[in-house]
Amino acid sequence: MLLEGKVAIVTGGSRGIGRAISEDLAKNGAKIVVNYNSNADAANETVAAINALGSEAIAVQADVSDFDQAQALGKAAIEAYGQVDILVNNAGTTKDTLLMTMKEAQWDDVMDINLKSAFNMTKAVARPMIRKKNGGRIINISSVSGLIGLPGQSNYSASKAGMIGFSKALAKELGGRAITVNCIAPGFIPTDLTSVLDEDRVKWITESTPLGRMGKPEEIAHAVTFLASDHAAFITGETLRVDGGIAM
Ligand code: NAP
Repeated sequence: MLLEGKVAIVTGGSRGIGRAISEDLAKNGAKIVVNYNSNADAANETVAAINALGSEAIAVQADVSDFDQAQALGKAAIEAYGQVDILVNNAGTTKDTLLMTMKEAQWDDVMDINLKSAFNMTKAVARPMIRKKNGGRIINISSVSGLIGLPGQSNYSASKAGMIGFSKALAKELGGRAITVNCIAPGFIPTDLTSVLDEDRVKWITESTPLGRMGKPEEIAHAVTFLASDHAAFITGETLRVDGGIAM
């Protein structure tokens, strides 16, 4: 049990990669606050799956792009479990289109949900983590799109690259408190988010990936569990690609 006695908030922990992260952290002993925005059924299913493993979890609704709702989510976690040791900023979205056709709202939504949410949630948990004097882990789910840039994703690539800069600055600010801040940059993983990709795109992805396939949500989750554990106590400001080599 790598994470016995730890409490984790997973934003967007109800579906896709977030659900796999919630379940893997729980399997390793952590209590989980499963955040969702609109799909309560998915969040309740994830909580039930965690309970079936014999672990504790609650579902908490909050739009993490909204500062006040993010603060309320942090408070709900502390009220439920008394502390937050691990924050996984996973909630994310895409609104893909070429710059020439991108609307201001498509830029703003992606920046708010993917990047501002990480600021909002870090503000919600950093002070309680510092007060607890027990260190902490902040793990931001970036993307290979933030490392290499992808056409049709100028908003998404910018938000995910922004997360990496944000994490490095915070790693320097919080290192003295034994709080590590790292990113994971997943490659392509089949979830609702990527279900819109057409056949040609999937073919390009598998052909461009040295391991010759898309990843599994669990493969991202295992990397999160590692970074959340004591095994990663001397790793901070890092971006770990879990991408089958596509962004090498
Ligand atoms: P997904 O299946 O679409 O799930 C998105 C999750 O985020 C859901 O739980 C959703 O909750 C939640 N969410 C969305 N907006 C939210 C908001 N404003 N406040 C709170 N929760 C919100 O996506 P995914 O593929 O698992 O992606 C998870 C993360 O990995 C994202 O940050 C994504 O950018 C990143 N990523 C994904 C891939 C990939 O290939 N899938 C690759 C690289 C990076 P509701 O259902 O309640 O709205």
